[in-house]
Amino acid sequence: MGPPGAGKGTQAQLLKEQLKVPHISSGDLFRYHLRERTGLGQQAASYIHQGLLVPDEITIGIILDKVLGVSTQEGFLLDGFPRTVDQAVALDNTLAERSRRLDWVVFINVDEAELLHRLGGRYTCRECQAPHTLSETQGGDGKCSNCGGELYQRDDDRPEAVEQRLQVYQTETFPLLDYYRQRGLLIEVPGIGSVEDVNHRVLSALGQLPVDVN
Ligand code: AMP
Repeated sequence: MGPPGAGKGTQAQLLKEQLKVPHISSGDLFRYHLRERTGLGQQAASYIHQGLLVPDEITIGIILDKVLGVSTQEGFLLDGFPRTVDQAVALDNTLAERSRRLDWVVFINVDEAELLHRLGGRYTCRECQAPHTLSETQGGDGKCSNCGGELYQRDDDRPEAVEQRLQVYQTETFPLLDYYRQRGLLIEVPGIGSVEDVNHRVLSALGQLPVDVN
């Protein structure tokens, strides 16, 4: 969990390799449906472009379907879901029906000034979804440094949508931190510093490293 721009997707990409678990990203899933112009993509498009949450009636079903698709022998990493208390309750109920539960909820915390700075200058790779900064985009050939894919500015990274997303985060998602804190699941990690620093903190907090050097 974390506000938009905290680095959830970036960290999830590293963690899925390090922990060898499938990665379920609600944002990536919606962007796939937008690209492919599916019925779901058309239903979700106007919410996403305005920086609003896609309604729970749409979101809960498609994400829980993915969660249920993971074999009970495997773990999984959720990124961007849940974002409302109703989504969290639906997730808990579905997991409980399969005698499963969340091990941890990692909250990547970044202050608002830094988020505005990051999101305003963020360009995303159409192929691998990796984020890039405006200066990388202008200084380079406009291609992704990971895979050579085309870089673009997400509609929801435009200034009006960024403001909206931060507000939605405060009202809808922030209360979820308490929901998980009360259940003893929440691990808070500062999201400032390099990608490697944050990754190190997350792994350490999850007990995957012997000591936290930061
Ligand atoms: P993200 O890439 O996680 O920032 O997600 C991009 C957009 O997809 C969000 O701004 C929402 O419009 C939509 N979205 C992603 N996850 C959810 C969710 N759990 N509930 C509702 N809408 C979501």
